[in-house]
Order: sequence, then structure tokens, then C-alpha cells
Amino acid sequence: MCLQLSKSSNKHHVKLPKLGIMRFKAGIKIPEKIKSVTVRLSPTGKYYAVLLVEYEKQTFNKTGRQLGIDLGVADLVIGSDGIKFPTIRFDKILARKKHYWEKRLARRRLQAQKEIAWDKHNKVLNPRCLDDFKNYKKAKLMVAEYNEKMTNQRNDYLHKITVQLVKDNDVIVMEDLKAKNLLRNHKLSRAIVNQSWREMRRMLEYKCAWCGKTLVIVNPYKTSQICSECGYDDGKHTLDIRDWTCPGCGHHHDRDINAAKNILRLGTSLGKRVVTSA
Ligand SMILES: [Zn+2]
Repeated sequence: MCLQLSKSSNKHHVKLPKLGIMRFKAGIKIPEKIKSVTVRLSPTGKYYAVLLVEYEKQTFNKTGRQLGIDLGVADLVIGSDGIKFPTIRFDKILARKKHYWEKRLARRRLQAQKEIAWDKHNKVLNPRCLDDFKNYKKAKLMVAEYNEKMTNQRNDYLHKITVQLVKDNDVIVMEDLKAKNLLRNHKLSRAIVNQSWREMRRMLEYKCAWCGKTLVIVNPYKTSQICSECGYDDGKHTLDIRDWTCPGCGHHHDRDINAAKNILRLGTSLGKRVVTSA
């Protein structure tokens, strides 16, 4: 399927087979030649067109810099150079409004189910289904709207972080998440933080590949207990220890920055523990 942006108008229309000229919104300029379009309907009733286009490969200049990153809970990303990106709980920011509609959704679903059961019991000719209840549908849409908004905000934040990391560094070393999940359990925010970590790794993988940078994945074994200055093994540090002084060399460490430095060393040394590299 070969499609073209409509010539008749500005860059806000795309011509699709069978559907004709459609108006769309896009944050970036779309190239003239489109190879294929996939149209997707989101739970909030918005149509998204995923375009496959040809474009000039974007490369960031080489900076000669290498960075190790530790992934955390309070801070999402901690760099071996001391840079920190905090975890932002987008779910909490909208939690109250979402909860308002979640309560209504639960109540209206229950009510609708009762009425459906009544239809069934009385052998009504055209029994209603859930989607026939307008108030239920409205509440369902509102919950979906808030979920979509949270996802968009979170992804936007992750895109900004990963673009900056890829732009500023030639080599990025991060931990293998499979091993990390077992190491650090953190009740409530665990699921959300885990999801951000996974998404971030995915973004770093393809952005590094696009821009000619390298991503190295290492096993995080002992990275938070070994001194990055002298290699002294201080034993296991519990999660509440945020900083410590190395008995070997006397260096005072920020727990996370020290871990990021160790990760960088693992990824850029001979790499015995390198798991994969993208
Ligand atoms: Zn030391």
C-alpha cells in the first residue's frame, strides 16, 4: 500500500484508501512519501495512524563520553557522572480524579449487571448488554482517559531522559533488569517503577541503534556494595543506607552514584559479565 499526503492542503491531511482525505494532528513534520499506514483505535475513542516512512538517519555527534546508569526507586536514573532524574509518580498526580470515576464505574457496572440479569430472568425479547448503558459507558471512557493521560505523561518524560542520555554519551552501560528485580523489592511503587525501567531500556536500545551509539547491559551483582574507588567489598547494604564511607580508602560514597560507577566499569572493562550489547 502506497499513500501520499494530500497535496490539496496543508500538512494536516492524509489520504487513506477507502476512507478518503482524513484530517490529523502531528507534533512533527511528516515526510511526503508514506510507505504504509496502520490505523489504531484507542480505548478513549481516538484514532491513531502509525506511519511507516523513509527518512534520513538521524545521528548525534560523538561526544567521547561513556556513562554508567543505575536505576532506582526514588531517583529513576542515576548516572556515574552524578546526574539524577527523579521518579515522577504521574499516577499519583491524577489519582484523585481517576478514583472519582473508578468509583462511579464500579457502581454503574453493578447496576447495569443487575438490570441485564432482570432482562434475562424475564426473557425480554431484546436483552440489553453493558454497552447499552450510557452512564456506564461514560464512566468507562473517563477512566480510560485518565489512564491514557498518565501513560502519555510518563512516556514523554522517559523520551526526554533517553534522548538526553543518547545525545550526551557514546556508550551507555546499564544493569540487566532480570537480575535487578530480584535484588530490590520495594512494595507499592515496584510495579510502576519496573515498568518505567523496562520501557527505558527498550527506548535506549532502539535510540542507540538509530543514532550510532552503544548500549551495554551488565549483571548488577554486587554493584552497590563494592567501592568504585578501590574495589573494597563492604558487604551487603540494605536499601535504607543511602551513603557510606569505604573502610578501605576512606572515600565517602553516594550509594547510587557509586553503583553507577561500578556499572560503568563493568561495561567498559574487558566485560566478563556483559550479557548482551545492542
Ligand atoms: Zn574504597
